Amino acid sequence: MSETTETIFSKIIRREIPADIVYEDDLVLAFKDIQPQAPVHILVIPKKPIAKLADAQSQDHNLMGHLLLTAQKIAEQAGLTNGYRIVINNGVDGGQTVYHLHIHILGGRQMKWPPG
Ligand code: AMP
Repeated sequence: MSETTETIFSKIIRREIPADIVYEDDLVLAFKDIQPQAPVHILVIPKKPIAKLADAQSQDHNLMGHLLLTAQKIAEQAGLTNGYRIVINNGVDGGQTVYHLHIHILGGRQMKWPPG
């Protein structure tokens, strides 16, 4: 899997390919996952093309906090009052397939542990 910063998510940010966008501000974009793994499956991404969590730097401190608080707000707006799961897949062993940092919000069903 190539680790360039230009990915399908960059194209979604630039509106070059369609996505079901549920939230946007200056720093982040959120849209529905194209292959949902739960009744609610939303991805929250920074507009800054950070390839993966391990590449975030100390200057991204505020952005990383904003990402997580935005995920919290989106989960609330999606009606996930009974709970939800936040996932960040990082790198090959983490199962990451798109190399533009993203937070998965999964909800609307009982999650299992451990994950696969
Ligand atoms: P990960 O495996 O953590 O890298 O997650 C990548 C996620 O992006 C997967 O859940 C895919 O279903 C999702 N995905 C890939 N392409 C698109 C797309 N064009 N629109 C929405 N979600 C996508």
